Amino acid sequence: MPLPLLVGSISAKAIFLSVLPHSKRMSTVKTRLRGVVFDMDGTLTVPVIDFPSMYRAVLGDDEYRRMKAESPSGIDILGHIETWPPDKQRKANDTIADYERQGLQRLQIMPGAAELCGLLDSKKIRRGLITRNTKSAVDLYHERFGIKFSPALSREFRPYKPDPAPLLHICSLWEVQPNEVIMVGDSLKDDVACGRQAGAFTCLLDQTGRYDSPEYANVEFKPDFKVTSLAEVYSILEVNFDLSP
Ligand SMILES: [Mg+2]
Repeated sequence: MPLPLLVGSISAKAIFLSVLPHSKRMSTVKTRLRGVVFDMDGTLTVPVIDFPSMYRAVLGDDEYRRMKAESPSGIDILGHIETWPPDKQRKANDTIADYERQGLQRLQIMPGAAELCGLLDSKKIRRGLITRNTKSAVDLYHERFGIKFSPALSREFRPYKPDPAPLLHICSLWEVQPNEVIMVGDSLKDDVACGRQAGAFTCLLDQTGRYDSPEYANVEFKPDFKVTSLAEVYSILEVNFDLSP
């Protein structure tokens, strides 16, 4: 019996995929990349916030050790303090804000960030940003380095990473599917978890090789790609995706 040529809303591309053998599909058809969403701290900026020291200041030594043992892939400090009574929460937020302010004073753009953004612009690939930092920190980044990301969602957008909501929100504003987008970030527990849960591709920036440690071997969300610098990202995109506008 002949197959119908047009099936409802299935696109020509989907029909093309359905008649290709799997091996051929993998080697010849690349996903069209419609957007790249970046994390900010430690990805678009050189890491300056000493997170272990910040966690210790907020939680105290004992509680920090207990929580680290419980979740080796990282501590969700913002989510954790939300369960605290208002007074204690305010104090914790002040401590976090202090660390972030000190970080801003030493803010530096990540090597390779400007070049990567220039290459994406040349292909008309959109650039978005999702951070657990504040809107004022994002504004400062935009001002100081003259590279704009849009949309740029900060922690005022709830729920924040690792929830997939901010990434899904960006995809809907861009009118693209999550699987046409890649999330690039330096955190397994926030960026990779957010990206994977949204159904996007993910690229982990691991400058020091810290995620090669066995404690990360069994994490729930693993990245599709891993790089040690932003300079490697563009060639990964070129090899694995269709970058035509
Ligand atoms: Mg980060």
